[in-house]
Amino acid sequence: MGEWSDEYDVVVAGSGAAALAGALAAAAGGRRTAVLEKTALLGGTTAYAGASIWLPGSRVQERAGIDDDSTETARTYLKALLGDDAAELREAFLEAAPRVVEFLESDPAVEFEWQAFPEYYDAPGRTARGRSFVPKPLPIERLGELAALVRPPVDRDRAGLSHDPSAPLAQGRALIGRLALAFTNTGRGDVRTGTALTSLVVEDGRVVGVEARGPDGPVRLRARHGVLLAAGGFESSAALREERAVAGSAEWTMAPEGSNTGEAIAAAVAAGAATGNLHEAWFCPGLVTPDGRAAFTLGFRGGLIVDGTGRRFANESLPYDRMGREMAAATGPLHLIFDAKSKGVPAITIPAADPEEHLAAGTWVKAGTLAELAAKIGVPGDALAATVERFNGFAAKGADEDFHRGEDIYDRYFTGGGHGLVAVDEGPFCAARMVVSDLGTKGGLRIDPDARVLDASDRPIPGLYAAGNTTASFTGPIYPGPGVPIGTGMAFAYRAVQAMTSEEK
Ligand SMILES: Cc1cc2nc3c(=O)[nH]c(=O)nc-3n(C[C@H](O)[C@H](O)[C@H](O)COP(=O)(O)OP(=O)(O)OC[C@H]3O[C@@H](n4cnc5c(N)ncnc54)[C@H](O)[C@@H]3O)c2cc1C
Repeated sequence: MGEWSDEYDVVVAGSGAAALAGALAAAAGGRRTAVLEKTALLGGTTAYAGASIWLPGSRVQERAGIDDDSTETARTYLKALLGDDAAELREAFLEAAPRVVEFLESDPAVEFEWQAFPEYYDAPGRTARGRSFVPKPLPIERLGELAALVRPPVDRDRAGLSHDPSAPLAQGRALIGRLALAFTNTGRGDVRTGTALTSLVVEDGRVVGVEARGPDGPVRLRARHGVLLAAGGFESSAALREERAVAGSAEWTMAPEGSNTGEAIAAAVAAGAATGNLHEAWFCPGLVTPDGRAAFTLGFRGGLIVDGTGRRFANESLPYDRMGREMAAATGPLHLIFDAKSKGVPAITIPAADPEEHLAAGTWVKAGTLAELAAKIGVPGDALAATVERFNGFAAKGADEDFHRGEDIYDRYFTGGGHGLVAVDEGPFCAARMVVSDLGTKGGLRIDPDARVLDASDRPIPGLYAAGNTTASFTGPIYPGPGVPIGTGMAFAYRAVQAMTSEEK
């Protein structure tokens, strides 16, 4: 056995929401804790997120008077969507949800507020306006030296768009800033950026530390109480996606450059861990960007999406994971068709889209007539014309008889309450190339209700815990509502640290 470079009570791999929530719980509980982050910046995909957080039955919804939220209604909703698949994990999540919020808000650096955002399925237990909440914006001055370590906003980081460095941190960055601040304020938290976990150190069947590649070479860090793997999924690995048949591509994922390539999952598998759900991700429509990547696209306020035959195949306003799955099942190429009225793409794109750049790059094409547009994108002209004519008829009636766009509360959330069916009838016409993108994979290490990583015989591997997109999410192929990736990640990270603490000798 080699020498330890440093000794901690808890070592956490990753620095997204799951990792930092776990790290904070460990450090606040008196444990010397290290956060290892592979890239130079903290936050992972979480820093890009809107940071809706789905943790039902907590004091935040209670403060906001969201009467239809409770652990019971959330259970009803999850059961309606998932049946009793993974019931133990569901119950563990529901039990921990209010407690993790209470714990996080007990730190003065962490503050949340409810924000209306409908859940993604019309199912029993759904709330009228949503139960998720967001972190309050954080003045950058409060972060001190940590400010330089928080990943910039997605528009800046992905597309090089300008950004006011003195602006308060918002959304995902506010969450990361707040958790990182609370963690370092404990005085027991070390943040080690540029440090990638490469393998686990196992002694007598117990994980006792990690090996990592640091800025100055390899390090070997002891973890007396446990290792928490919360290093995202494998969405940025083309090879692993292909092997596991995950829809979309490593180029079109929303994960930050150079981040989530599945190393933590591989390290655990090498130590005997079992995996599940490996073909799953949190999917979304992606608008192909001039650099060949994709922008998360949601909230359609016009336009329609056609497949390679020139026909619509789904309600474009479906919650993004559901639309992403429809796109994965459709025959490409896929295009968003819109007209001059929208003065740019009629949807929210993250990062923001610049029409001129798209037209110059050929990711959007423009034509005076639909027939010319069809020829340019290689779909049958008569089919496209018929599709648009039928869609325009629905717009005139205010009713989508084919796919019911605009009927659900989610569809109307982004349209100011209207049905969002706008006739495509004013040239020039435009087609934007669409692909299946994702917000991270959600297949990975199998865990028990205390986030202990399981082996192939369903036995916990002592000393090893995991949370967030490093794990096989108990939600399987369903994305129940805004904030489930972050909410479930934080809840299981919290449970992991509580389990470590109770197992201390
Ligand atoms: C635009 C956008 C909006 C979104 N909005 C929401 C939302 O509102 N609510 C919600 O719940 N979800 C949202 N999501 C999805 C969500 O952000 C992610 O699925 C979730 O944050 C993943 O969290 P995580 O902690 O598992 O991983 P991440 O936040 O991705 O963090 C993983 C970190 O681990 C690091 N890492 C990887 N390998 C190693 C290694 N070997 N050693 C050390 N570190 C390593 C990575 O560099 C990364 O920093 C959104 C995503 C996007 C892109």
